[in-house]
Amino acid sequence: GSTIGILGGGQLGRMLSVAASRLGYLTHIYEPGDAPAEQVAHARTKASYEDLGALEAFAKSVDVITYEFENVPATALDLLEALRPIRPGTRALAISQDRLTEKTFLEGLGLTCAPFRDIPDAASLIAAIEDLGTPAILKTRRMGYDGKGQVRVDGPEQIEAAFAEMRGADAILEGFVGFQREISVIAARGLSGEVVCFDPGENVHRDGILRTTTVPATLTGAQRTDAALLAGRILNALDYVGVLGVELFVTPAGLIVNEIAPRVHNSGHWTQAGCAVDQFEQHIRAIAGLPLGDGQRYADVVMENLIGDDMDRLPDLLAAPDTQVHLYGKAEVRPGRKMAHVNRITR
Ligand code: ATP
Ligand code: MG
Ligand code: MG
Repeated sequence: GSTIGILGGGQLGRMLSVAASRLGYLTHIYEPGDAPAEQVAHARTKASYEDLGALEAFAKSVDVITYEFENVPATALDLLEALRPIRPGTRALAISQDRLTEKTFLEGLGLTCAPFRDIPDAASLIAAIEDLGTPAILKTRRMGYDGKGQVRVDGPEQIEAAFAEMRGADAILEGFVGFQREISVIAARGLSGEVVCFDPGENVHRDGILRTTTVPATLTGAQRTDAALLAGRILNALDYVGVLGVELFVTPAGLIVNEIAPRVHNSGHWTQAGCAVDQFEQHIRAIAGLPLGDGQRYADVVMENLIGDDMDRLPDLLAAPDTQVHLYGKAEVRPGRKMAHVNRITR
């Protein structure tokens, strides 16, 4: 069989690896650190993204390369891309690595984002706060996840402290969106350009981390259609191959795009219990050049992340009816660490 290379060995890489195995592919994980995925992958390289020799050997051992981790350095990507196809492409990765280029790209497609300003220095923050008002959210352009690297600014008196929290990193300021709810749409585009969208899920965050995703989301038919159409627009513009996650704010004035993730997405885990073909299989199908599968939702599902001490509830959850448990095989429980998730079928 052919071999799929996966950059990143976290739980997303692990679940991609399982899906690939089920379709008869071998997987090779490239991960510098802890790698829950290594327990299920067929090969593993533990090396940094600066190790060009290791990257080259990895690329030559696989037929196609994908990623579960967005922050792969450009030099590593250039080397890999010269040797094997990377799907989704490096353009999707480059755009979504930086909130400024991401939002500029999305607005260029005619989509609506929260108003934003580039914040290269303290003076620009003062001007941007005057412009956008408060509350506003200051976010690092790069590397943020789970709400890390962002701080809310509730008034001009907080500007100095907020700027200090960026610790010199390039940042953007976003106007605060008074959303009714948060949803995400997980969509896939195949090698021949076909698009399949999963039903949008409704997301609830706590302490900046996704807690639950519920399907169906509370949406009008028009909002559902808008979500699918805007995801399709993004996929086509990027000539994308694979699964993409799009986080959206629902407002009375329409859908606002918060951010995109060029990979399988935590808020798409419900598809494991709600669809014949889940997001992980869909992604593997896409990058392997297989036809996309049936992503119709056939059940109502609540996905809940088990974070840190939530693992104390595991015995109860294992005994609960209509509940699918996914453990990531991480040895150490730490506060804020995603350890597992459960999919509860509610209808
Ligand atoms: P992820 O783990 O999803 O990658 P992240 O660190 O990239 O998260 P964002 O998705 O930008 O962070 O923001 C985290 C959460 O903060 C959002 O899901 C939303 O609840 C809130 N938030 C972010 N930006 C805004 C905004 N402009 N207005 C209102 N709320 C916001
Ligand atoms: Mg993010
Ligand atoms: Mg987010």
